[in-house]
Amino acid sequence: MNRQKSFHNDRPTLYLVATPIGNLDDITYRAVKTLQKVDVVYCEDTRVSGKLLQHYDIRKPLKSYHDFNKELQTEEILRHLEGGDAVALISDAGMPLVSDPGYHVVQAAIEQGCNVVSIPGPSAVLTALTVAGLPPHPFLFYGFLDSKTSKREAQLEALKEREETLVFYESPHRIHKTIASLYKVLGERDLVLARELTKKFEEIIRGTTVSLQDVPDVKGEMVLVVAGNSAAETIEVDMTVLEEVNALIADGQTSKDAIKQVAKRRNLTKNEVYMTYHQSDHKE
Ligand code: SAM
Repeated sequence: MNRQKSFHNDRPTLYLVATPIGNLDDITYRAVKTLQKVDVVYCEDTRVSGKLLQHYDIRKPLKSYHDFNKELQTEEILRHLEGGDAVALISDAGMPLVSDPGYHVVQAAIEQGCNVVSIPGPSAVLTALTVAGLPPHPFLFYGFLDSKTSKREAQLEALKEREETLVFYESPHRIHKTIASLYKVLGERDLVLARELTKKFEEIIRGTTVSLQDVPDVKGEMVLVVAGNSAAETIEVDMTVLEEVNALIADGQTSKDAIKQVAKRRNLTKNEVYMTYHQSDHKE
């Protein structure tokens, strides 16, 4: 057991400080005060964070901490902490550790008996989730999917039955491939693409994995929020195969698309659903 009464001990502290994800006004008073009081700031890219600190008129020694030097830098950070220095870790944007470096040094600092204190602030995951208009909880934050199509689709396959709203980070040059994979593996679902959050060109595109397939002009930083699988329960409890096909047709789908979708959701062949539908007296 490791109990940390963060503000009632004299152990050295590693602060995880959130920085803006775009709009520079999105920094907390506490984040600024913390960056002013620590002895040294570790960051991903000293040029990026240098500009940020300059903007708030904070002058502190800046050192790099990223995935490629994390072992070495963790040792250095621990030496600072042992020597009584207060250390802050920031990333290029948002919360450190959230699809960003930091986990390694947090683990090491905890093992070393140091305090680890979060100075919370903006993060793209919660910013996107709250504006998406999809059920905010439960949600599952995945971070980045793999860049290789086969691996990405295997990852999605493992998420297919999850009922939570799914949140992914994605880069603009992979966005269309990823949306294609979402449709291929998860079928038609509500999908929200939130881009350039908190910035001048912020845009929230609400649609489905079908309607967003070839969405044009999507540049910048982006988050995908995908509806969870609500079908499993609804199908079993409420609907027969035929009722489900009819419900989709009533929603505006062609019988062909409806059959395809029901087959996919229920792990049936298209032919099985086709036969059920066409042999029925109750098709609409
Ligand atoms: N630590 C950050 C956080 O707390 O959100 C995330 C860092 S991760 C390396 C960068 C990814 O976060 C981007 O590729 C994008 O998917 C998402 N992101 C960051 N800022 C964003 C913004 N302003 N609008 C939309 N997505 C953003």
